[in-house]
Amino acid sequence: MAEHPAQFDDVLPEALRFTAPAPLVDIGANLTHESFARDLPAVLGRARAANVTTLILTGTDREHAEQAVAMCREHGGDGLSLHATAGVHPHDASRWDGELAAAMAALQRLPEVVAVGECGLDFNRNFSTPAEQERAFEAQLEIAAACGKPLFIHERDAGRRMREMLRAWRDDIGDAVVHCFTAERDTLHGYLDLDLHIGLTGWLCDERRGHHLRELVGDIPLARLMVETDCPYLLPRNLPAKLKGRRHEPALLPWIVREIAHWRGESEAALAAGTTATARRFFRLPPNHEEN
Ligand SMILES: [Zn+2]
Repeated sequence: MAEHPAQFDDVLPEALRFTAPAPLVDIGANLTHESFARDLPAVLGRARAANVTTLILTGTDREHAEQAVAMCREHGGDGLSLHATAGVHPHDASRWDGELAAAMAALQRLPEVVAVGECGLDFNRNFSTPAEQERAFEAQLEIAAACGKPLFIHERDAGRRMREMLRAWRDDIGDAVVHCFTAERDTLHGYLDLDLHIGLTGWLCDERRGHHLRELVGDIPLARLMVETDCPYLLPRNLPAKLKGRRHEPALLPWIVREIAHWRGESEAALAAGTTATARRFFRLPPNHEEN
C-alpha cells in the first residue's frame, strides 16, 4: 500500500509495448486504487492491446469491492472481460463485525463477483492483530463454503497458520488461490498438497529478492498456476524502459509471463495459454469470444 507520485506516463514507452502470444488473465488488478482514477479507460485500452483480455479486479474491502463491481458494469465488454472479487484484506480485519459480514456475503450474490477475497493472514505488518485477522479470515472461509465460490487468498509470513486453517476447512471450501506467492519451498509444497492454486506476480523479476522463486516455479503444475500484476504495486524490475511514477498496470503482464516461462523452461505461448485455461476454470468464467 505504497503512496504513488501524482505524475506518471500517459502512454507506455514504445519499448514496453509487448503483446502476449495468447490472451492472458490478470487475476489480481487493484484498478480501484486512486492512481488509476485519472486514466482508467486508457489503462484498459493498453491491457487489450497487450492481449490481456480478462481482468479480475481485486476487492480488498467493502468499498473497493463495490467500486470494482461498478467498474465491471461500466467498462466491461468491447474485447475486455472484467470481473471482481469481494473480501476484507487482513490489514482491515479489525473492522470485521456482523454488519460487514452480511454485506460481504450479499456481494457474493452479484454475478460480477467471481471469488471471495482478498482475505487471509499477514503477520508481516500486523496492521490488524493476528487474532483479528484469524477471526475475519475464518468468517470469510465460512462465506466461501456457503456460496461455493473460489477464494482469493493473501498470505505473508503466516504460511504455517494459513496451512493449519485451510487444512481444517479443506473439505468445506472449493478452489482457493494463494495470490502473489513469494514464500519458500516447504510452504509451496504444503499449499500444493492442499490442492491450492498459486498466483505469481513480477516478484521473481526482482534480482534483489526473487532468486529463490526462480528455482521453485517449475514445481507448480500448469493446472494450478495463474499470473497477476497486483498493480499498481510490484512494478517488475526487469522492464527494458523506465516508467515515470513507477505505477504497474495490466498491460505489463506479458513481461511477467516471459520471465516465469524462462525460469520454467517452457514457451511463453504455452504458459500464456495454460495459465489462462487454469484461470477460466478456477473463476468459472464464461467463454470469451475474442479469444480463439
Ligand atoms: Zn495481497
